[in-house]
Amino acid sequence: MLIADLTHFQDLPFDAPGPARNLAAHLERIVRAATAGDAGDPWASALPCGRRPGRRPCPGRIVVQRREPPAAIEWRCDACGDDGAISGWEDTPYDLRRRHLAVAGTVHEVVIGDHVAAALRELMLLDPDNERLVYSLRAHPDGAALTATVRELEDLTCCVAAEANHDDNRRRHHRLDAAFTVLNDALTAMDR
Ligand SMILES: [Zn+2]
Repeated sequence: MLIADLTHFQDLPFDAPGPARNLAAHLERIVRAATAGDAGDPWASALPCGRRPGRRPCPGRIVVQRREPPAAIEWRCDACGDDGAISGWEDTPYDLRRRHLAVAGTVHEVVIGDHVAAALRELMLLDPDNERLVYSLRAHPDGAALTATVRELEDLTCCVAAEANHDDNRRRHHRLDAAFTVLNDALTAMDR
């Protein structure tokens, strides 16, 4: 089991070795997911495991469990059993716990492909509400399940469109454009 204190990863020097930076990014994504979802019971996030046992990508998703701080966030891969605990996550930039009450509204579930979920995690200009939405994605047999109100989904779709339009990297632009189409189609299909 990997026991990590997130505060030890916050000031990595620019020349830190790749594996250390990759591990930091992995832990930061887990903290985002665990704090985007509810505290209490463990749940399967849409985050891929990222390990390559036997040089093949592990198909697992990361199951997260958060209790009230200062308890560590616990996580495990639902396929290969890789697991760990992360302390020192509270009030870091990756702590996405809500600071205000959620806006009430009918909640819809939209299932998106893994490639769309990955494109959403690449977005760089998200405000905390949209970032929380992206990291609250749950594992689903067909990819990832997004649970959102129409208003939240409209907000996120606008962010994707704006960032796609300002991206000079053609491949990334293409990924964001594809994500926009999926979200926009889901919005169109919703009974509003
Ligand atoms: Zn795994």
